[in-house]
Parts: sequence; structure tokens; C-alpha cells
Amino acid sequence: MLRPKRKQHISQFSLSDNYMSVILLGMVFMCGLFIVWPHSLLAVAAYLGLWAFSYIIIYAGTCRYCIYYGKKCPIPLEGSCVHQFFVKKENSFGYLQLFWATVTYGFRVILPVIFIFRYTMTGWGIIYFSLLTVFWIIHLRITGCPNCINAQCPLNPEHK
Ligand code: SF4
Repeated sequence: MLRPKRKQHISQFSLSDNYMSVILLGMVFMCGLFIVWPHSLLAVAAYLGLWAFSYIIIYAGTCRYCIYYGKKCPIPLEGSCVHQFFVKKENSFGYLQLFWATVTYGFRVILPVIFIFRYTMTGWGIIYFSLLTVFWIIHLRITGCPNCINAQCPLNPEHK
């Protein structure tokens, strides 16, 4: 697997460390909202509900196993909030935690993706998929993983 090169070891991310991820994830959320907005209030409620539910999944399946539990991590509202909802698990962090993180993002994007294809929203589709791509490149290659101290994570530069 192609892991990023190590940049720094950041034990707690400040806004100046991860502001690009904060902005891009916010834009992904808002873009998804604009995509579902014209269809019905029920669609908007479902979209917001899926985002809210996704935090339960990532807190329970991923963040409570992470070294950033209770600290600001590369992604907003995750490591810094998990301790409000779940106790920490000392088991190791591995592929299962990445699986639950992937499921989480599936919940966040499923409704906009369905609407983009169902209603042929080409322009919105290009914007939405571009934002998602840039967000993941920034997180995985530039501001998140290259600076992360969770060496147990399979995506970490120091993972054995
Ligand atoms: S290496 Fe990347 S994906 Fe893994 S915990 Fe750190 S920031 Fe998250």
C-alpha cells in the first residue's frame, strides 16, 4: 500500500494544522445539502439524520480505538468529540477501524450520490466529486496522515 511520507508528528491538531480539511469537509457537507435541498424536506431531514448517525458509527467503530481519543485529530468533530459519547477502548487500531470509517463516509455521501445519478445533476456531480477527491487527497497525503501519530493505523507512514 502506498503510504505518505512522514512530515511531522502532531499529537494534537490545531486549526492551523488542519484548516484545509475543516473547510473542505464543510464544503462537502454544504454541497450535499444543496443537492438534496430542492427535492423535499424529507430528503433534507434524511441527509442531516444520516450525517448525525455517521458520527455514532465512526465514534463507536473507529475514534474510540484511536490515539487521538479526546484530542483534536486531523478531521473536525471526531477525535475531539468522541469522549463525550463513548468510553475509550484499548484494543489496537487496524483495518476494522478503517472499515467503519469507510462506512461512515458512505452514510454521509449516499443521498447526494443517489440524487446526482437519479436526477442527472451533472454540474453538481462534478462539483461534489471534485470536492470529495480534493478532501481525501489533502487528508491522506498532505495535512492528515503524514502528520498523524497513530502508527497502528494501516495508512500511517510508520505502520509496520
Ligand atoms: S494515519 Fe490517517 S487515516 Fe489513519 S488515523 Fe491517522 S489520520 Fe486517520
